[in-house]
Amino acid sequence: MINKKLRSGTVLALLLLSAAMLHVPRAYADVQAKVVKIERLTHDVKRIRFRAANDDFKFTAGQFILLKLPESYLKEFNKEHGTNHENVSRPYSFASAPSEAPYFDVIIKHYPAPRDKDVPPGLASSFVHEKLHAGDAVTFSDPMGSLYMPNDSTDPIILVAGGVGASPFIGLLKHWFDEKLNEKRKIYLFFGANSRRDLFLLDDLNDWSRSKANFEYVPALSRPDPADEWKGETGYINVVLGKHFEGPLAADVYLAGAPIMVSETIKILHAKGVPDSRIHHDPIKVE
Ligand SMILES: Cc1cc2nc3c(=O)[nH]c(=O)nc-3n(C[C@H](O)[C@H](O)[C@H](O)COP(=O)(O)OP(=O)(O)OC[C@H]3O[C@@H](n4cnc5c(N)ncnc54)[C@H](O)[C@@H]3O)c2cc1C
Repeated sequence: MINKKLRSGTVLALLLLSAAMLHVPRAYADVQAKVVKIERLTHDVKRIRFRAANDDFKFTAGQFILLKLPESYLKEFNKEHGTNHENVSRPYSFASAPSEAPYFDVIIKHYPAPRDKDVPPGLASSFVHEKLHAGDAVTFSDPMGSLYMPNDSTDPIILVAGGVGASPFIGLLKHWFDEKLNEKRKIYLFFGANSRRDLFLLDDLNDWSRSKANFEYVPALSRPDPADEWKGETGYINVVLGKHFEGPLAADVYLAGAPIMVSETIKILHAKGVPDSRIHHDPIKVE
């Protein structure tokens, strides 16, 4: 079921579907992998490169994988925070091209405890940001999901990301450049973040927009810091997208980010006549 891409009608439908279909516990096969490299991309985002133990490890563009948290870490976390977690997995999107397997990247944002609440910090993201080191071995599920649905259209492809939602799009863009899809279709990446310090891989994306045919990168800041001296687009990414394309729009659109960003962008796409069959995103929750 999880492998079936959800096409959204309304946010309510999405929430009901995810509740009904995605919370069903399942048994997944295991993938063992070792951390090859950890890079800090922003103040709260890291990119981790893994190598799967199995040389034949494969995934398809747009998939994600479940990181299984070690029981020893869960015990330590439970003791420190008075929680009772066991058998916890969290989904993370591939941020590298399938051609790089058995190596693969994930880009993970850290969620510390909110300052105004007495609650524990993010369980999985704290493990990745605070406990994981090069050389460590971890366990994942088999790859799953099918965000990318190839078709024969030559209409533009539009990627709309909020924050760490850009992560699967880094993998998709690498794949599409490998496949030279940008020679057949115009590809846009709209990347929304709060301020300049939240935009990751800015240099790579700017390089691609100069060197790759038909690729346009549109970063936008919703709360630019005056120190950013930001000259680019400002405002929420859905609004920036709406202004960029006047009138009806014929395109395949991929969305990733906070549920509110996804639902607001879908409203704009519907107003521009983009049918649900051309609007793609991952399930909002996977367990
Ligand atoms: C298909 C899919 C793909 C994804 N891909 C990525 C990706 O590529 N990169 C990425 O970074 N993320 C991705 N995610 C999100 C990711 O799976 C995790 O949800 C995210 O890392 C947070 O998990 P966590 O365990 O760190 O936080 P959690 O433990 O779930 O906590 C989240 C927040 O809630 C707070 N909290 C904890 N307990 C309470 C409480 N009792 N009351 C109120 N607040 C509380 C925590 O302090 C934290 O700030 C993806 C999600 C999906 C569904």
